[in-house]
Amino acid sequence: MRLGIAQLKGESLYETVKGLKENTCVQVFLGEKTSLYPKDLAPMDKVNTMIFCNKNCCKVYFHSPYTANLAKENADTSFSCVCKELKNAEPFGGSSVLHIGNNGKGGSIQNVSKCVNQAREQGYLSGKSTLLLENAAGQGNELGKSLEEIRLLFEGIDNTENVGICLDTQHSFASGMCDFSSHESVVKMFEGIRAYGKVPLVHINDSEKEYNSRKDRHQVVGEGYIWGKDKTSLESLVSICDQYEIDMVSETKDPLKDIITLGEIRKKIAKE
Ligand SMILES: [Zn+2]
Repeated sequence: MRLGIAQLKGESLYETVKGLKENTCVQVFLGEKTSLYPKDLAPMDKVNTMIFCNKNCCKVYFHSPYTANLAKENADTSFSCVCKELKNAEPFGGSSVLHIGNNGKGGSIQNVSKCVNQAREQGYLSGKSTLLLENAAGQGNELGKSLEEIRLLFEGIDNTENVGICLDTQHSFASGMCDFSSHESVVKMFEGIRAYGKVPLVHINDSEKEYNSRKDRHQVVGEGYIWGKDKTSLESLVSICDQYEIDMVSETKDPLKDIITLGEIRKKIAKE
């Protein structure tokens, strides 16, 4: 398991990556948070990032822009954007993390599966980069908020090699997928999702809103509705991520505090 934070990249990707400690990860936007037209990384930036990541066992996740939506009828621009991320991530085996989409204007989860199949046909998923589809809080018309929708999504994907799920804990809580009330609740959620796809990454966020609120509002780990009172299920989660080598990235307003919290839990588990 590698711990990491979400941040914007500096001048170059390597500028961001070279500050990482050994065996950690980072999540960045390849371009602007909402722009579907990210720029390509400079060739030397890719090489330097690759050398650093290989040497230090680090990993880079690209978060796709929030405006990317593979679920809509004509998703050409979003599709090109995601393919560009996969291509840029290729030299250093990075991943593109994508919100599954929303069905606002006649979109559907089947369209997302089709796009994934298309990306494979065009060679974007045959190398070292991977595509991770993130579960949703269920705000508005967001797709990927239930096990049923995740099942539908993966049923339509012909080949799931280099395709997986990014499990966001706040989204799971807000969508009503998991209440994190016990060790068993976490195990059940993982078993449910892993029946359909691999989970190489967890977005570790507490929640500013109540269970089943359908609101996408992240909070610092241990300060929200999920783990504010009891961290038992957080220990279970960290233990599962350690066991299955699942990376954890914090997307809260104080990610460094989250990394400390998670590090302390890891130490506690190791002693037990
Ligand atoms: Zn997330």
